[in-house]
Amino acid sequence: MHELTLPSRTQTTRAATAFDVERVRREFPTLDVQLNGRPLVYLDNAATTQKPVAVIESLARFYRKYNANIHRGVHRLSVQATNEYERARTSVAKFLNADFEEIIFIRGATEGINLVAQSFARPRLRAGDEILVSHLEHHANIVPWQMVCEQTGAKLRVIPIDDRSDLELDALPKLITERTRLVAVNQASNALGTINAVDEIVAAAHAHNVPVLIDGAQAVSHMPVDVRALGCDFYVFSGHKVFGPTGIGALYGKRALLDAMPPYQGGGDMIRTVSFGKTTYADPPQRFEAGTPNISGAIGLGAAVDYLTELGVERFAPYEDDLLAYGTELLSAIPGVRLIGTAERKVPVLSFTVDGVHPHDAGTILDQLGIAVRAGHHCAQPVMERFGVPATVRASLAFYNTRAELDQLASGVRKAIEVLG
Ligand code: PLP
Repeated sequence: MHELTLPSRTQTTRAATAFDVERVRREFPTLDVQLNGRPLVYLDNAATTQKPVAVIESLARFYRKYNANIHRGVHRLSVQATNEYERARTSVAKFLNADFEEIIFIRGATEGINLVAQSFARPRLRAGDEILVSHLEHHANIVPWQMVCEQTGAKLRVIPIDDRSDLELDALPKLITERTRLVAVNQASNALGTINAVDEIVAAAHAHNVPVLIDGAQAVSHMPVDVRALGCDFYVFSGHKVFGPTGIGALYGKRALLDAMPPYQGGGDMIRTVSFGKTTYADPPQRFEAGTPNISGAIGLGAAVDYLTELGVERFAPYEDDLLAYGTELLSAIPGVRLIGTAERKVPVLSFTVDGVHPHDAGTILDQLGIAVRAGHHCAQPVMERFGVPATVRASLAFYNTRAELDQLASGVRKAIEVLG
């Protein structure tokens, strides 16, 4: 077994006190609700995040003031809705350091990965080709590749993980072969929190001219993302995990790749001309946004990334590191608690089991105490299998959580052991 070291992204907690968490909490109305008659302790942020007033109001404003369909209308409301929708695309492009045309609005990370699997990978794959993923992926970054493998005869290969839950990148030279057509990995693991060295993975893949998709669903709310600096070919994330609405997300694709890809779905808004003889398609991003999109969702996502940019990840990342280190310390001091995922670089996720207590039972006791955590396999069954457990309890944090809430989590776990252990 490895000795437990306290994880961090920045290896420092120096700025932890400079972040005014109480002020930030006031911007999130849901943090004020009661759960089972107690003040909510919301520790399920990897599943979905709470929304700041800025996002809630952007949605309300759309439906109250200028609800209309976009792109085809000549009336004022439609023009305003179109402008706000496209302004949101500009915000997301800035957020990722991409160009406006490189951002496609999608339902979420899941749809973005399916889009790349079907529109980019499928036409290029031949029997015997390979797609490389990691053992640390969410099902959303496994199943779409398995489906395209079934459709084409390609094979899925897997980067292994070590006992601390770091990817074994030493294996890359063997795993990236002349048959590899795409590498798809997450930047941060939802189940265990590991931050992956995606820069190294991109470099290794590009050395063989292999494109890379990065699943940033768990990264964007915790670290700055610069797709140009990363050099990745595709990047996906979901709005609801970054303080925005559900049913919306973004796919970044390098312009040249998007230009060469066929549409994912057909319908209105993605065409240049339609006739029964021949239809021609619009340029990206419209080519990939068939039908009426989630207009309010995109506007809400724009508000969310603007909010995050203004808050400043450089301000809250050290604060989150402090929370993670504190929570790690508290939980590892409880006899019978086994922390799973002890990588050195982590987003603030605490995944653990408790001897003699089923994770769902622990989750139920915590719920009775007003503490919302997730218990289960976290849509990452291969990860659970790798660590020999069917499920874990997962407390996943955001910048609006506090040390006091982690104290409550630790005493809740002790209570669960007392009652059930
Ligand atoms: N990838 C990762 C790492 C995730 O954590 C999730 C959701 O938990 C997804 C992909 C899928 O996101 P969504 O369900 O929003 O499409």
